[in-house]
Amino acid sequence: MTDSKRIVIVGGGHNGLVCAAYLAKKGREVMVVEAAEQVGGAAVTREFTPGFKVSSCAHLLYLMDAGISRELGLETHGLRFARQDLATVALAADGKHLTYTTTAVSGGDVSADDRAAYPKYRRRMEKFSDVLAKLYTREPPRLGTHNRKDLMSAARLALDIRLLGRDDMREFLRIAGINMFDILEEQFDSALLKGALSLDGMLGGSLGPRSNNGVFAALHRLSGQVGGTRGALALPAGGMGSVTAALAQAAQMNGATIRTSSPVASILMDGDHVCGVELEGGEKIDAGIVVSNADPRTTLFDLLGARHLEAGIVRRVSNIRMSGKAAKLNLALNGAPEFTGLGADQLGERLVIAPDLVYVEHAFNHSKYGEHSVEPVMEITIPTVHDTTLAPSGQHVLSAVVQYAPYDLKGGWDEAARTAFTNQCMEVLGRYAPKIREQVMHTELMTPVDIEREFRITGGHWHHGELTLDQALMLRPVPGLAQYKTPVGGLYLCGAGSHPGGGVMGAAGRNAAAAVLSGE
Ligand SMILES: Cc1cc2nc3c(=O)[nH]c(=O)nc-3n(C[C@H](O)[C@H](O)[C@H](O)COP(=O)(O)OP(=O)(O)OC[C@H]3O[C@@H](n4cnc5c(N)ncnc54)[C@H](O)[C@@H]3O)c2cc1C
Repeated sequence: MTDSKRIVIVGGGHNGLVCAAYLAKKGREVMVVEAAEQVGGAAVTREFTPGFKVSSCAHLLYLMDAGISRELGLETHGLRFARQDLATVALAADGKHLTYTTTAVSGGDVSADDRAAYPKYRRRMEKFSDVLAKLYTREPPRLGTHNRKDLMSAARLALDIRLLGRDDMREFLRIAGINMFDILEEQFDSALLKGALSLDGMLGGSLGPRSNNGVFAALHRLSGQVGGTRGALALPAGGMGSVTAALAQAAQMNGATIRTSSPVASILMDGDHVCGVELEGGEKIDAGIVVSNADPRTTLFDLLGARHLEAGIVRRVSNIRMSGKAAKLNLALNGAPEFTGLGADQLGERLVIAPDLVYVEHAFNHSKYGEHSVEPVMEITIPTVHDTTLAPSGQHVLSAVVQYAPYDLKGGWDEAARTAFTNQCMEVLGRYAPKIREQVMHTELMTPVDIEREFRITGGHWHHGELTLDQALMLRPVPGLAQYKTPVGGLYLCGAGSHPGGGVMGAAGRNAAAAVLSGE
């Protein structure tokens, strides 16, 4: 085994940077080795056509752990917000849009009953997501051990659920694993409201409104507290790249070194312990510990090699469901788009196209058979309404997550398929903003295949692996690897594929740093 005290972190996505910052803060010698020209992974800002910048994949900040922002001093390191507390506008083709915030719903044809039910629904979901948020700050317990730490951790989870009170505990246990369709049907009348709310459980996953696990995914989405409000949505000034730039600065100020344009080809072993990494160019970097921000399959199969793992782990990792269905559509526009019935003051909110539950389910159905949606659902931001640094004066960027665009599209994502899906997206957008096609100066579509290639995420999956109860908590990414430490001496995981999963939250990075420190 190497006597190097160095810790190498493979990948400078936000989780790798968080992990680096915490380890460096504790005085460890840390080097982040990132394949891309810039750090940030799927949370970056990039010029996608001359003069127009966009948050390439992740475009809204809502999950970043408040403790991490504070402890790493992200504001001191330059993080600013162009806008916080965005409302969501559920777009209606007839212009009778509906708006909801963290506290109220208004507009559209929303009934008095729905107006009264919404705050109750929201508070209850927030209360339930608190249980997850607490669990997210710590390592999940190992299953089937008598270890005191694991037993205490499992007991804390049970206690947090019990502390919800009898009624809420029962409701939490009833709904946590089920689908959004049933619980939204139980509580609301408005088709538009139900469609839009269902999207919170669908984004980034391979789920439709009737799929189990949708509620769990919606609770995960609510578990952050950016700006002190649970589930609030924020647009970082300068795009998501400014979040990861602040994290990189925090890591460097604490003493970490960051190398970009340095793809790791393999993790090196000395006996049964890691001893460093080898870059694609052949350079070797010694390390006593290697922490990987790459997804579990890339880390264990491509970089380490399955021969170093026992057969059970290899089988479980092979079976991780990680086939992405979310694409990103980025448009450069020659002016502000006009959505029928939408005031200029609402253009900068989060706009969603998910007009009812059946529409969303139909959009999902195609993807089950390897087809893209004919009528996609969308989550749209127009960040240039709040942040003029992203486009030339008077011009705009439209950034949309569009689903469903399966990674394993039948026939593959050739030019014809890309054009067909882009046209479907534009056709749907045109229903709400009839002149938008004439305003488009440049279009970029990033399918899961592009996301896999550009960000080195297997399957182009938002969470580095489906975020469902069979792949969550102590089962994430698979049993035996859920505590960040792998069975290979000195090798740890710190990316979204680990507990608690994806989204720009940093929890996996921080928990992994704690696991490294406690394992020393
Ligand atoms: C279309 C889309 C939209 C999304 N929208 C949102 C959103 O609005 N809000 C939100 O919170 N989340 C969103 N997400 C999810 C979020 O982007 C991810 O969950 C998150 O970025 C994962 O962070 P990470 O640090 O774990 O991994 P990544 O961001 O994937 O970073 C991993 C890093 O490792 C590097 N790497 C991999 N292999 C190697 C190697 N061999 N050598 C060196 N480096 C390597 C990669 O280059 C990358 O930089 C979205 C995701 C997608 C796909």
